[in-house]
Amino acid sequence: MNRVAIKTYGCQMNLRDSEAVAALLRLRGYSIVENESEADIVLLNTCSVRDQAEQKALGKAGYLVARKKRNPRFLVGIIGCMAQNRGGALLDQLPDLDLIVGTQKFHHVPEHLDAIIQSMNGLGPQSSTVVDLEEETGSQDTIRDHIPDAHPVSEFVSIMQGCNMHCSFCIVPKTRGKERSRPIDSIVDEIRELVANGIREVTLLGQIVTSYGKDIMRPSAGKSPFVQLLEAVHAIPELKRIRFTSPHPRGFKQDLIDAFRDLPKLGSYVHLPLQSGSDRILREMKRPYTVAAYMEIVHGLKSAVPDLSISTDVIVGYPGETDEDFRQTEQVFTEVGFDMAYIFKYSPRSGTPSAEVPDSVPEEIKETRNQILLDHLHRQSLDRNLAYVGSTQAVLVEGRAKRGENLFMGRNPAFRKVLFPATPDHLGQIVPVAITSATVTVLQGQIAE
Ligand code: SF4
Repeated sequence: MNRVAIKTYGCQMNLRDSEAVAALLRLRGYSIVENESEADIVLLNTCSVRDQAEQKALGKAGYLVARKKRNPRFLVGIIGCMAQNRGGALLDQLPDLDLIVGTQKFHHVPEHLDAIIQSMNGLGPQSSTVVDLEEETGSQDTIRDHIPDAHPVSEFVSIMQGCNMHCSFCIVPKTRGKERSRPIDSIVDEIRELVANGIREVTLLGQIVTSYGKDIMRPSAGKSPFVQLLEAVHAIPELKRIRFTSPHPRGFKQDLIDAFRDLPKLGSYVHLPLQSGSDRILREMKRPYTVAAYMEIVHGLKSAVPDLSISTDVIVGYPGETDEDFRQTEQVFTEVGFDMAYIFKYSPRSGTPSAEVPDSVPEEIKETRNQILLDHLHRQSLDRNLAYVGSTQAVLVEGRAKRGENLFMGRNPAFRKVLFPATPDHLGQIVPVAITSATVTVLQGQIAE
């Protein structure tokens, strides 16, 4: 009665939360299984970024609770953003759910399951559905356990939870709450432990990492708490690469731009969400920066790291977006030369301010604009990758490639995927790879003697 399967929907932060829940369950004697059909307990860690994501998880939950007819001891739980967003109302649709746990209560999942199982064994008070959604001080510092060897070389580290911004299309502030940062020492200790177990790259995670520490620390020597954290992590010997996601343009002050120049482990890649290239639409979205300010950050970063690779997030078809607004987005998109991007066709998300505004841009227009940016992205990414052919890249060897015998995968400082023949001994090392060919998504080469 202790085999648990966790199915995760949504973002990297959800994957990290699921891994932490799995690690805590293992410490409590549960076993984590991949396949739901083998599980005694299934937890759905859910996403609310779009209505569609919630409908998908609801459909899945409906299918799972039906299994309880054949096996009343089978348990089903909904955790994460949709649990936080919909709460006890989920029981209207799914009265047989056993567990509903919000985004600040992940670390209580093991004790809740223990209590439910004990009550089923008649050892504890009769329990109905456990609903745990309150805010909890310090909960952000409970997401730090890892499954050993889950990722041999590169690992994600949660540094904060929540967001204080008010982007009109976004449900995150409602599902994840206010910004709550973990203490630097706790993060550094976690990373030291990971490095001692062979990890050589960490990605610092948060909904708005550039706001890290504003709730617990002060700027020091002109450096924001986030840059202070980057410096503390950078000082960990043996750690070779540091990445972070997701930042906000407002957080890119000179200290962070200088950090890209002064902290080599940061590499030459940054994710910088734009969302729109029209100041009018940015105001509608409640994104507190202008295109000119955004471009100033880009120029600052590119002077700090000339061959910097920049990825972004863009929404096309936001309510009221005109041809001229989109032309401005297209212009920024090509001027920056993004070579990785997440492009979304706007869809109203109930519970957000923009959902109150008519979704005025026709679907076919959204599709056209989406395709135009995808075509630019394809060309810009291919041009960028072809430019690497003939060069030698410092590649951190992450693991075996999905296909190809003796073929391994790694990434260069610009986060480009590289495939090359290697051996398990190369894992976790930075090796010089001579690039011989490229496609739009991947570089290929040989380890240079
Ligand atoms: S900054 Fe990001 S997480 Fe925060 S409200 Fe805006 S889009 Fe959502």
